[in-house]
Amino acid sequence: MLNLERFHDDAFCMEIFKRKLPWIFIDVASGKLIIVVDNHLMTTHRACADNFMMAHVEGKFLKGLPEQPSRSWYLEFGIIFHILIEHYYKHFRDPDFSVAEWAGDMAYKVWTLKNMDAFAGVHPEHHAIGGLMGFQAMLLAYAHKFKPENEKLRIIGTEVSFGKNREIPLYIGEYVEVYLAGRMDVIVDDGYFIMPMDHKTCGSFKRGDPLERYLIDEGPTGYIYTLRSLLPKLVPEELRLKRGCNKILMNFIEKQFNKDNPLDRFKRLPMFKSDEQLDTYRMRMLLSVEQLLCNLESHFQNLPVPRNTQACTDWYHGKCPYYDVHRQATKDGEQNTLQNGFVTLPIWDTETINALNS
Ligand code: SF4
Repeated sequence: MLNLERFHDDAFCMEIFKRKLPWIFIDVASGKLIIVVDNHLMTTHRACADNFMMAHVEGKFLKGLPEQPSRSWYLEFGIIFHILIEHYYKHFRDPDFSVAEWAGDMAYKVWTLKNMDAFAGVHPEHHAIGGLMGFQAMLLAYAHKFKPENEKLRIIGTEVSFGKNREIPLYIGEYVEVYLAGRMDVIVDDGYFIMPMDHKTCGSFKRGDPLERYLIDEGPTGYIYTLRSLLPKLVPEELRLKRGCNKILMNFIEKQFNKDNPLDRFKRLPMFKSDEQLDTYRMRMLLSVEQLLCNLESHFQNLPVPRNTQACTDWYHGKCPYYDVHRQATKDGEQNTLQNGFVTLPIWDTETINALNS
């Protein structure tokens, strides 16, 4: 039985007040405990609660590139890719829009502004993509591949963010409220469905059907759930008539250059969710939040939290960043490792990531 209200106690709230975490805080006006979670936070907690505490409560991050500690190829590549994709969907029908300028000049500016070549020789994907030129070729091929399909879509919105403005409530209680946060790349209307369109980059399609990885994933389900809630505010009723909104379009982009057919590195696949799936999504999110708060309470009391030791050597295709910390025999050993090999950085904040994208 869900019981989130029990976390509104003095000791827990005092700690929350002191910590100033971006995703959980006390609303000064109402005194309520407000939790704003996105898919990244929840996925991390589900994958390993101890990892979550290190990253999203303590803000401890492994020193990365020697000259720029803590940079993340995956995060930053995702950001520059989404900047360009959002620009494309905003402007591809403008009479003065040039695909060549977009994939050439604009991609060059974004790539160099973000200094993506700092990853050359450091991250294998920089090489697999082919650096800046490979990235530009990928964008050109993307526009070419999807142009015929895109011409049939009406673009309803791009860069649609939701979060601390409390647009998507998951739970409104007497003392506790939970909201969903995130950002949708593009919202489109194909005449039958109004739906989010998401982009996922992956290493290679040779590993199998890329959709399989996301069929049960909470992320796309969350986007459909969100769009259903936001739709009345985004689209007038007459334009919503007879449109379904239980579908998402997933665009998969293979990062590795495909020599045989450069256009085969893109797939656009639909995914559907039933009403029942959307209802159980909400309940699952709340149960996960309750578990998260339970572990957070233990962490505040200096008690251990659960560990998923299967993920220690397989954390997103590599070793977990906290492996060297958690293999220590003593607490002192853990502290020394943290002091020597980690930096303390601002904690993940969906709004900041959204602002970075913008
Ligand atoms: S090393 Fe293992 S137990 Fe420690 S945070 Fe990583 S996955 Fe969790």
